[in-house]
Amino acid sequence: MGHTPRLKCARCGAEEPFEKVLERCPRCNGDWLDVVYDYERVAQTWPQVLRERPFTMWRYRELLPLQDDAHRITMGEGGTPLLHAVNLGMMLGAPHIYIKDERQGPTGSFKDRQASLSISMMKELGVTEAVVASTGNVAISYSAYSALAGIKLWAFLTSLVPAEKMREVAIYGSEVIKVTGTYDQTKQVAAEFARRQGLYLDRGIRSIAARESMKTVAYEIAEQLPLFLGPGLTPWRAPDWYIQSVSGGMGPVGVWKGYQELVRMGLVERMPRLACIQAEGCAPMVWSFEKGLEEVEPVLQPRTRVITLATGNPGPAYTFLARVIREQGGAFEAISDQETFRAMHVMAKLNGLSMEPAAALAFAGLFKLLSKGIIQRDEIVVVNCSGHTFPVEKHLLGEDWAKTVELPLEAPAVEDGLLSSLEQLDRSVQRIAILEDNPDAIRLLRRILQARGDYQIFEAYDGESGLEMIRRQRPDVILLDLMMPKVDGFAVLDALRADEDLGRIPVIIVTAKELTTSERARLSGQIQMLLQKGTFTDEELLHEVLEALGEKEG
Ligand SMILES: *Cc1c(COP(=O)(O)O)cnc(C)c1O
Ligand SMILES: [Zn+2]
Repeated sequence: MGHTPRLKCARCGAEEPFEKVLERCPRCNGDWLDVVYDYERVAQTWPQVLRERPFTMWRYRELLPLQDDAHRITMGEGGTPLLHAVNLGMMLGAPHIYIKDERQGPTGSFKDRQASLSISMMKELGVTEAVVASTGNVAISYSAYSALAGIKLWAFLTSLVPAEKMREVAIYGSEVIKVTGTYDQTKQVAAEFARRQGLYLDRGIRSIAARESMKTVAYEIAEQLPLFLGPGLTPWRAPDWYIQSVSGGMGPVGVWKGYQELVRMGLVERMPRLACIQAEGCAPMVWSFEKGLEEVEPVLQPRTRVITLATGNPGPAYTFLARVIREQGGAFEAISDQETFRAMHVMAKLNGLSMEPAAALAFAGLFKLLSKGIIQRDEIVVVNCSGHTFPVEKHLLGEDWAKTVELPLEAPAVEDGLLSSLEQLDRSVQRIAILEDNPDAIRLLRRILQARGDYQIFEAYDGESGLEMIRRQRPDVILLDLMMPKVDGFAVLDALRADEDLGRIPVIIVTAKELTTSERARLSGQIQMLLQKGTFTDEELLHEVLEALGEKEG
């Protein structure tokens, strides 16, 4: 094998030197061609040479299919952080959840990788005007990179794409064409337009650039995981699971190829399993897989608010992913819009990550796969946080998302007025004590409560100082851990019950301890509720707290 990359047909296996981009296999006319490289040669220099290079996707230059660096169109895409999801992991009882934060790309989604390589390859081909169909993010990203490359872009979007995203496309100077139809219809209109006008058409999943760019997500995760977990037998590592919300399927298809290349080069030991999560109202892959189909059965009328993911006909991507998941393990899962928006809240409020619904859907998928036992709680999981939110989801926050403090108009009364206004705020505040020796658990409980209500929170790390605090602060509810240094939770309960006043405060036990029968007997009748750490959701905790507060008032 020579040093130049080769093109290999996925259908018939024919190979030839990669000198120019071919759309179809010259032998069988198949339209899925993969680039294969001289992996043995690259493996001799990776990972050493990479140490010297900046952390963007172009550090993997040897395995990207651009011929001449002069055509590279780049804005620092790729090289996104891998975050350890501490609060989320605490809530789920899953300590090895990592987030690939693709929100941090130049236009806020992981499509920036695809745009950088696709537009660079267009430039190499001499394209000056191009057509793309999109559910939003591809159009935004391609528009930015086309602007930089001096390429005119015709962006065909379904009219369901939120106006804010449409404007984002337009601001880069692209022609925005709204098609009142589904995304699949929009693709057909775009293709027909390109054919008639003789313009270059982006081929989506069938294009080499899309898959070759997405594989850099796999390389980066492999390079980043050892920073948290230490090296294994190989210099880099693969997670047990890669989770992504899926529309056309470019991400997981590319990521799969990336890991195959790394395994072949001896840089990671094994392949991860793929979890492809789709919106219930447009989940052709999930339903086709359940029926055991080899070819996808398209969804003709998508019904989901998550427009980014409304690809009704993913075509060959399904065939590819279904085979991988059938043969190597993995999962397809469908998520309702309601679960998606709930996950969006949870991720913002508990982990500080505001993301677009399409990204949140992958997290909802994680919750579901954990609770079904398909993903084990001790497995290493990477979730692709695929895109940032634009502030378009107005319905998410409802009406009462801010509080107003009204000041009286007359100047002299300002201080009085301010005080009484603040008192009014105070009155709605309820007091909660948390007795818990694990700081991560305290932070999680505090976040759940802070995010939802006007709670004043008091914290203690052991039973002794906890009791003192309770006597001083007279909280409305107590959240109590059972296993604490010095005075444990059982002893705290006994002390509370011995005091006429304090004995009336409702107590919610939050514990990681498996209780024995006699311990359960000791607690019975003494507490409001027992929540097992790592298995309750934020909503369950809040529900219990509100019940406890209600009981006190009633
Ligand atoms: C495009 C996109 C997806 C789906 O990507 P595919 O791998 O092509 O299915 C998910 N989330 C966001 C934010 C996206 O922009
Ligand atoms: Zn072929």
